[in-house]
Amino acid sequence: MEKIKDLIEKKVFKTPFIDTHEHLIDESERLDCIEPIIPCDDWALLLNLYFSFDLISAGISKEQIDSLFSKQVNPINKWGILKEYWPYLKNTTSGIVFRNTIKILYGIDEISEDNIIELQNRYEQTRKKGFYKYIIQDIANIKHCHINSPIIACKKSESPDLLLQDIALNGLIQVAVKPYSVPENVKINSLSDWHSLIDWWFSEYNQIAKGVKIGNAYFRRLDFERVEANEVEKIFIRKTSLQIVSSEEEKKLQDHLFWYCVDKASEYGLPVKMHTGQWAMNNVMNMQWVKDNPSDCASLCKQAPNTKFVFSHLCYPHYEEMLSLAKSYSNAYIDMCWSWSINPLAAKDFLKKFILTVPNNKIFTFGGDDKIVENVIGHAFVARKGIAQALTELVTENWITISDALDLVDNLMYKNAEKIFE
Ligand SMILES: [Zn+2]
Repeated sequence: MEKIKDLIEKKVFKTPFIDTHEHLIDESERLDCIEPIIPCDDWALLLNLYFSFDLISAGISKEQIDSLFSKQVNPINKWGILKEYWPYLKNTTSGIVFRNTIKILYGIDEISEDNIIELQNRYEQTRKKGFYKYIIQDIANIKHCHINSPIIACKKSESPDLLLQDIALNGLIQVAVKPYSVPENVKINSLSDWHSLIDWWFSEYNQIAKGVKIGNAYFRRLDFERVEANEVEKIFIRKTSLQIVSSEEEKKLQDHLFWYCVDKASEYGLPVKMHTGQWAMNNVMNMQWVKDNPSDCASLCKQAPNTKFVFSHLCYPHYEEMLSLAKSYSNAYIDMCWSWSINPLAAKDFLKKFILTVPNNKIFTFGGDDKIVENVIGHAFVARKGIAQALTELVTENWITISDALDLVDNLMYKNAEKIFE
C-alpha cells in the first residue's frame, strides 16, 4: 500500500499540469496594482478571493474585510483582523491552499503572530519582475494557463506562452454595460451591429484563443433556446436605449445571443467552456438553478452536436449527474477547475468515479480559477494530492492496476487538454 501510494504520488508530483482556467491579470498589471482587481499589495492579498468568501460565510463584518484588503492599513496589523476567524477557516480548503502556498513559496510552516513581519518580507521579496513564470512553471510545475480575463473579453497577454487566452462571452450575451465588450470606436445601433461586434471579437482573437468562456450561470438557468434574430431585434433596441424589458424578453435576447456566440465558436473550432454549479460570491446563489444545470447542459449538448462543451467545477454539488452527462454525450467534457478547493473529497470521489464510468479523454483535472498567482501553488498542491489519492485508492481497492494508474497520469494532467485545446 505504502509503495503504491509513493509511486503514484511521485509521478503525479513530477508531472506538469496544463491549467485550463485562471483569472490572472498580466504580471505588469499586478506589479502596478491595478484596481479594483488588486486592492492592496501585501501578504493579505493572498486571502483575497476564495478565502475571503469563506470569511464572509463565517460572518466577518464588511468593515473588517475592507480593512483586511485596504492599502491604508499596515500589513502587520492585518493579522489582528484575521486571527479571530483563522481557527474556523484554517481547515477549509481555501485555508489549506493558503497554508500550502506560504509553506512552499516562502518556507513558512504556519501563520502566527510571530511571523507576520517575515511573511510580509517574503511577500515583497517574491513579488517582483519575473515572478509569474517562477511561480507558475518553476514552482507549481504548470506548462501554461488558460486565462479568462477579469478585465476585458480577450486580449493578447504580455507573456503569450505562459498565459493563453479564452474569449469571455458573458458581456456579449448579456449586452453588458460599456466598455467591457465594446471597443471605443464601435457604434451600436441595432442587433446586427451587435452581431458584428461579436464577429469582431472572434476574428480579432480566434488565432490566440484556446476556447471561449461563458459564465452566465451566475445570472440565470442554462436553458438557452434557439431564437431567431427578427424575434429579438426590437427587444435589443429597447434594452440598449435603456427602456424596460421584461424578464421573458431578456431571456429571449440572451438565448438568441448565446447561440449566435456558440455557433461562432464552433465555426472557429473553439471549445465552449461553461460555468456550472456552485457560485463563488456569498448570499446570492440560486440553488434551484444550480440543480437544473446538468439537465440544461444535456439539452445544450443535444442541440449542438458539433460544439465541444467543457463544463466547469463538476456542477458542484450535483457531480453524479455530470458523470452521467459526460458518459452519454460525446461532446460533453468536464473541467475540474476550482473543484479541489470547493470540496477536495468530492473532487477525489468524482475523479475515481469518472475513471470507472466515462472514457478518460474527456476530463481536465486542474484550474486554480484564481486572480492571485501565488495561490496557484497551494491550489495545484491540493489538486495533485487529490489526484494521487484517487488513483491510489482505485489501485488498492482493486479496480485498476498500478501500471494502469501510472499510465493515466499524463492524460489527466496535460495530454487531454493538449488534444482538445491546441
Ligand atoms: Zn472562473
